[in-house]
Amino acid sequence: MKLTIIGSSDAFGSGGRLQTCFHVSSGAGEFLIDCGATSLTGIFRQDIDTNNISTIFITHLHGDHFGGLVWWLIHALHVAGRTRPLTVAGPKGLEERFKVAAEALFPGCTATPRRFELTFVSYEDFTPLTVGGVRVTPFVVSHPSGATPYALRFEVDGKVLTFSGDTEWVETLIPAANGADLFICECFAFEAPARYHLNWRIIEANLDRLGAKSVMLTHLGPEALANREAIRHPKVSIAEDGLQREI
Ligand SMILES: [Zn+2]
Ligand SMILES: [Zn+2]
Repeated sequence: MKLTIIGSSDAFGSGGRLQTCFHVSSGAGEFLIDCGATSLTGIFRQDIDTNNISTIFITHLHGDHFGGLVWWLIHALHVAGRTRPLTVAGPKGLEERFKVAAEALFPGCTATPRRFELTFVSYEDFTPLTVGGVRVTPFVVSHPSGATPYALRFEVDGKVLTFSGDTEWVETLIPAANGADLFICECFAFEAPARYHLNWRIIEANLDRLGAKSVMLTHLGPEALANREAIRHPKVSIAEDGLQREI
């Protein structure tokens, strides 16, 4: 599968990056992992056709991870002429939160007739789910966002890709990341304590226990970006908008 980092920032766009969104092209088709508010902008920078994407997986219900669904909808309705069905998988409550956000920003948009089927699927904690040929296991993490937050472990094309979502350190990250070909891990801070987020020192101390073959840090906040030169480990890289990797 081919991974493209559409956006790699924290909630604040630190470093001029776009908010969280990853694109995966695989034998099972194309899907997105998270859809932050700036996702469409990033998708067009990478020359990706939204109509080829069949599924969007959401980790948790913060705007920098699901807010882009609102712009996705109006683009699908008014520009892309979408007819292909779209499935959005996420925490219980996603459909309701999406509708509230969409109606606040573009009143009436959820009632506009659609030429495509839009289906919401909810995760069950720690229970594998297959959507559009992609097997995903949602691991509960710790990050208050009005609904259960998850790390997501994807199995596709015989490979494993795990994304931590946003979270403070929890032991469930270990089975989520174990043996993964790539573990994309949020790293909001370098060494400063960050409530409900990870810092590099915690990740570094747990790298062997996580047991992933490769680790990519994302969601870096200002203090992490200022110290990025000090983040050094042979298994660890830092995500950049537009970066592509074959997994
Ligand atoms: Zn976030
Ligand atoms: Zn968050």
